[in-house]
Amino acid sequence: MDILGNLNIISNEIPKDVTFIAVSKQQSRDIIEKAYDCGIKDFGENKVQELLQKSEELPKDIRWHFIGHLQRNKVKYIVDKVYLIQSLDSIRLLSEIEKQFMKQNKVANVLIEINIGKEKSKDGIFLEDLEALIIEIEKCNFVKVKGLMCIIPKGDDKSSESYFKKMKDVWDILSHRRFSNISMDYLSMGMSKDYDLALKCGSNMIRVGEGIFGKRI
Ligand SMILES: *Cc1c(COP(=O)(O)O)cnc(C)c1O
Repeated sequence: MDILGNLNIISNEIPKDVTFIAVSKQQSRDIIEKAYDCGIKDFGENKVQELLQKSEELPKDIRWHFIGHLQRNKVKYIVDKVYLIQSLDSIRLLSEIEKQFMKQNKVANVLIEINIGKEKSKDGIFLEDLEALIIEIEKCNFVKVKGLMCIIPKGDDKSSESYFKKMKDVWDILSHRRFSNISMDYLSMGMSKDYDLALKCGSNMIRVGEGIFGKRI
């Protein structure tokens, strides 16, 4: 696997102001170290246990992004270990994050995950539930929302583009409103197969796994 080669191809394609996250789920320490040695500092994991173990063993300046479904009973373990929780998708999870981060007097940086395709199989909040979540976020003292994240439904380019554009519209609308605890710094969308399209539609944070590391087994 030519990690450096893949990274070079991708970094030539993406603008400088785009945050690139190497999705390292299921990848070994050695492989992650290779990417780190190529200059990658942002890594994405979707399992709490795996993130904790890797953050223990790997360089301390890595920024770990939690991109999977976050169970409420695991929140307490990731305080101070995670740079950005990308998968806030309910008021119940918000309350637990607020509670656990308060206990350690830390601030949680999070993205709201939107289930833009309203798929049963996917996590994320439906757009119609977003305002209710925002009201609760504004009451928090230990949570800062930094933007939105989504995983779009499988489909052709035309379908993908329509979901990306819908996300960009929501992100733009929220960007122009004033909230406590909420700023729209990041629009996290685009994976190995569609990051180029996502960037065209306004993404500024892409999450790429197989495109750098090769197929996961
Ligand atoms: C696995 C995963 C990715 C990366 O997917 P690839 O197809 O390997 O690029 C991105 N985002 C999330 C939330 C993931 O779970």
